[in-house]
Amino acid sequence: MTTNVTGGLTDRPMTHEHENTTSPAVAGIRELVALSSRILGHTDQGDLIWGHASARDPHGRGVWMKASGWGLEEITPDRVQLVSPSGEVLEGTGGRHSEYPIHTEIMAARADVGGVVHAHSPYAVALAAAGQPLLPVSHAATYFVPPEVPRFTDTADLILTCDLGKRVAANLGSASAVFLVNHGIVTAGPTLQVATVAAVLLERAAHQQWITHGFRSWPTWSDAPEAFSKRDHIYHPQALDQVWNYLVRRSERLSRAHGSGLTSTTRTLAGGCHEPCRDDPAAGDYI
Ligand SMILES: [Zn+2]
Repeated sequence: MTTNVTGGLTDRPMTHEHENTTSPAVAGIRELVALSSRILGHTDQGDLIWGHASARDPHGRGVWMKASGWGLEEITPDRVQLVSPSGEVLEGTGGRHSEYPIHTEIMAARADVGGVVHAHSPYAVALAAAGQPLLPVSHAATYFVPPEVPRFTDTADLILTCDLGKRVAANLGSASAVFLVNHGIVTAGPTLQVATVAAVLLERAAHQQWITHGFRSWPTWSDAPEAFSKRDHIYHPQALDQVWNYLVRRSERLSRAHGSGLTSTTRTLAGGCHEPCRDDPAAGDYI
């Protein structure tokens, strides 16, 4: 049976025969979202229980994202749910983040995007709130600049509606990141792995700019040709893949060191994580 998904993520056919919570593809995507979430938590992008990462459902049903009420570093595959473009939880348990339109609308607008991160990253939020453009004072910012990272200023409130999600997507355009001024960041990539690495780089770049500013002298930064060259030399696809693998290893070390036991069962993302389910927090709507 095949139907078309309208007004949502994609016009591609949705094949219901693939709707299977135990399929390797679903297990792998749950594991991926859990890994991405823990990496973001372990790179200080968490804001208590807020912030979320998502991956596009391979069957066109919506996005896989963390359930609400948990910190990013607490996310296991059983705390990842499938959210439809209208906000319905199709698979999984627990509360659903109310800012899901950030993810669904960006993926609807960008066929090239397979993963989205929204976080309240402290240095990036501070930089955008200060009205400062991101400058390539070190390597990290050259992943984004030039052009200037777009700034979403329609509201600093939550992105609660599809209309607001569409406006964020329009502001993002073809870029890999957008500042939600006085709120947070959004990064997008062809895969969630790339979107996650981008979120880590954006926060590192903002932090580096803050450190640079602290010397109160005459900062320098790369001009456009040098920034483009650095982007090619440093952040090519193979390097991004290696950075992701490093972040996975680092996150697992941190999980073990903290005794949380929240580690992945595979680095290849081919299999699921078989950790026991825990009781979900009280179901509710969280950003
Ligand atoms: Zn938010």
